[in-house]
Amino acid sequence: MSQPLLKCEHVDFGYENYDVVKDVSLEICQGDYLCIVGENGSGKSTLMKGLLGLLKPTGGSLMVSDDLKRSGIGYLPQQTPAQKDFPATVQEVVISGCLGKRGNRPFYSKKERETAAVNMERLGITDLRKSCYRDLSGGQKQRTLIARALCATDRLLILDEPITGLDPSTTQDFYRVIRHLNREEQVAVLMVSHDIQNIVVQANKILHLKQSVLFYGSVEDYKQTECGREFLGGGK
Ligand code: ADP
Repeated sequence: MSQPLLKCEHVDFGYENYDVVKDVSLEICQGDYLCIVGENGSGKSTLMKGLLGLLKPTGGSLMVSDDLKRSGIGYLPQQTPAQKDFPATVQEVVISGCLGKRGNRPFYSKKERETAAVNMERLGITDLRKSCYRDLSGGQKQRTLIARALCATDRLLILDEPITGLDPSTTQDFYRVIRHLNREEQVAVLMVSHDIQNIVVQANKILHLKQSVLFYGSVEDYKQTECGREFLGGGK
């Protein structure tokens, strides 16, 4: 069993004087596909920010493996209208995923340009590299943002509500791309999503959050629990 990339033990995260997420324990290993589900306001985004290192734990411990510290986390944020209109080419958006590693150098290195090219190829968007990002279809935009996230790392991808606004066929395309990266290339995936019907097909682990953890374990076990059956039945 490989060492976890990320491990939380009884961790709390919150803002100012109050904790929003309490007593969360989870681990993400290479090859895992973990989905975080829960009603609106249950603390999913807060937990995500904590795992990304944007919030300090107010209790418990958060362990990040040396491997992940070196390679970083690839983050796919929720798409905002401003991002959708971003006036840059596909190539520019993808290579901007290397920014975290660039430090103060004013130009991208040859290695970074190669990394961007490899990831555009991986996502099948090489032909679009000179196209303007804002002119792309929803699915092409999503592939561009995944390629960008992979420039930061190919160890762990964190995705926040990634299928919001995508049509059904683009959604299936998105899941195929992520599943390929996860199964064939062993990229660990951590996804916040409401799309429970697809999650139970795609993921291997589920964490159901309602401030604290209602369930954490395998998808198969989740389907047998009362909260799993209720959530699956309700579709949300
Ligand atoms: P979810 O992603 O499940 O919808 P959030 O983590 O966004 O849940 O929100 C959980 C709670 O944390 C909410 O009550 C929300 O008002 C509060 N919250 C979220 N962001 C902040 C913030 N920046 N400052 C203070 N409270 C916040």
